Amino acid sequence: MKTQTYEQSHGAAKVVTGSAHLLDTGKSKVLVDCGMFQGVDEWRNYEPFAFDSREIKAVILTHGHLDHVGRLPLLYKYGFKGEIFAHPATFDIAKVVLLDSAKLQEEEYKTKFKKAQRIGKENIVKKPLYTVNDVKKMLKNMKKIEIEYKKPIKITKDITATFKDAGHILGSCFVEIDFNEFDIKKRVVFSGDLGNKDNNILPAPKKPTFADALFIESTYGDRLHKSFEESKAEFKKAVIDTLLSGGNVIIPSFAIERAQQILCILKEMSEEKTLPKNAKVFLDSPMADKVTKIYKKWHKMLRKDCQQYKDHPFEFPQLNLVKDVEESKKINSIDKGCVIIAGSGMCNGGRILHHFKHRIWNPKNAVLFVGYQAKGTLGRKIIEGVKHIRIYHEDVIVRAKIYTINGFSAHADQRELLEWMSEFEKLDRIFLIHGEYDKQLVFRDVIEKKMNKRAHIVEFREKIYL
Ligand SMILES: [Zn+2]
Ligand SMILES: [Zn+2]
Repeated sequence: MKTQTYEQSHGAAKVVTGSAHLLDTGKSKVLVDCGMFQGVDEWRNYEPFAFDSREIKAVILTHGHLDHVGRLPLLYKYGFKGEIFAHPATFDIAKVVLLDSAKLQEEEYKTKFKKAQRIGKENIVKKPLYTVNDVKKMLKNMKKIEIEYKKPIKITKDITATFKDAGHILGSCFVEIDFNEFDIKKRVVFSGDLGNKDNNILPAPKKPTFADALFIESTYGDRLHKSFEESKAEFKKAVIDTLLSGGNVIIPSFAIERAQQILCILKEMSEEKTLPKNAKVFLDSPMADKVTKIYKKWHKMLRKDCQQYKDHPFEFPQLNLVKDVEESKKINSIDKGCVIIAGSGMCNGGRILHHFKHRIWNPKNAVLFVGYQAKGTLGRKIIEGVKHIRIYHEDVIVRAKIYTINGFSAHADQRELLEWMSEFEKLDRIFLIHGEYDKQLVFRDVIEKKMNKRAHIVEFREKIYL
């Protein structure tokens, strides 16, 4: 008996994180992404998969962000033995991301365990999902298949896929998947995360062709971004004003994409001589440093204006790479003229906290927020105007100037999502994934009004027949 092909989302359904979409043709099962749940949905990472990992023939990765690759080690743990298809730059980024995630999980476990021991409750502390060793073992055994943009590649006996540049982070793709359904050719497209055209390092997302069904991300389906140029001007002004008045600039930043965008702007300032010669820019994030090296390695994929710098699109005389914690501590003794870029991007941990402790009390300094700050994070509290924060059991007053610069998103906004969708020559069914439900409702209405098409908001583990 013939069975009908279906899609089933095991994450990123009515939420942004945990991307994992199963495609089952009856002949083969493949997974598009295998990402980690983050924030309030984190507990879901501990649930076993609702499918048999041993039956998955292949995994297609759209890009290397944790919410798209973070559950891969678990897939192996449960017996996955298939191939993984991704752009080589995605393999590079995923390696850094997974090792970092494992390390953080191990550290968090140790801290929680110690605390729990003191009250005799160590047995309720959740173990890490996986360790650095687990990831290393996985990386060694991984059957990596490196794709080329635009070149169709056989994923399984009955499934072929074409990967195209999504312009979201280095190596990101949207994927056109072809298979036969009752001897009729069908095409399903997964948008992955779609990039924001308006940026300074990556080319715009490529055009799609056609789809019988499209699964599209909807992270910013409800809003429009501020223009990049406007945000860049705001950024430059804040940096110059602070440095010229004898202060220091602290920039909490994500390690992937945002850190490189910021370095690129600072390089521009250095070249146009608006960044003072004696200023010291510190990239105080080992992970951002590793990712920047990957961006340099793949410099031919960057925007044309970045390519003129060949393998040094992010380097300039004022830049210092901070190697270890000792070097990081030494920055504290510098009185003025520093620009410090550090993680974590939402200030939940990492070296940024030390820099806050040493500098955020001083009204001469400035903090520049250049990325999204989720509810409940320290970053969000600061932009909402709290006057006191607690860092390492110490009360610190917030007197530094706080700037929120909004136009540096790596995601397409509502207008760009609609524009990209309108480029399909034929587009039958639309399914919304990778977005918060209230935002998806807004986006669904807009699609109906502006494109005269219905869109369906995908439920967690709902079977969608194609
Ligand atoms: Zn992403
Ligand atoms: Zn994502």
